[in-house]
Amino acid sequence: MRWLLLALFLALAGLVFWSWSRRQRLAAGMPKGRVVYADTGAWQRCERPLFSPRYRLAGKPDYLVEERGCIVPVEVKPGRDSAEPYEGDVLQLAAYCLLVEGQYGQRPRYGYLKYSQAVFCIDYTHSLRQLLLDRLDTMRRDLRARDVPPNHTEPRRCLRCGHRRVCRERLA
Ligand code: SF4
Repeated sequence: MRWLLLALFLALAGLVFWSWSRRQRLAAGMPKGRVVYADTGAWQRCERPLFSPRYRLAGKPDYLVEERGCIVPVEVKPGRDSAEPYEGDVLQLAAYCLLVEGQYGQRPRYGYLKYSQAVFCIDYTHSLRQLLLDRLDTMRRDLRARDVPPNHTEPRRCLRCGHRRVCRERLA
C-alpha cells in the first residue's frame, strides 16, 4: 500500500511539475512546437546568409521551403534527440523567421526544427517575436557590459569553454 501511495504521489508531482513548466513556457512567450510530418524533398538549401540592417542581424538557416505562398525557414540539428524543442533552438529559428520577414517582405507563420527523430513545427507568434527582440537587446547590452554573470550553473560547460582561461565568472 505504501508503494502504491508513493507511486501515486510521484505521478501527481510529475503532473504538477509538467503543468507548471508548461505555464512558465507559455508565460515566457515560448511556443511548445508540434511534431509534424515534413516533406524534406521540398526543402531548398539556403546558400547565402540573410541579413537584416534594421535589426543588425545576420544568419543562415539550413533550408528554406515555400509553403502556401510563404517562405519558411528550417533548422536541422541532427545530433539532438529530444521530445521537446530546446529553448535556444526555438529562439534561433525565430531569428531566422525575423530575417525571412525582412528579406522576403512576408512574415512566416511558423518555422521547422528538425531533430534526429522528429520535425517540430514552431509557430512564429507575436510573443515569440517579442521575446526574441528582448533577448537581442539583452545580448547587445551584455556585449557592452564589463562583467556578465553566467546564464547556467554547470561547471562542465565551463571546462569545455574556449573563454575559460580569461573568464572571471568560470565555475570550474
Ligand atoms: S568559462 Fe565563462 S564564458 Fe565559458 S561557459 Fe563558463 S562562465 Fe560562460
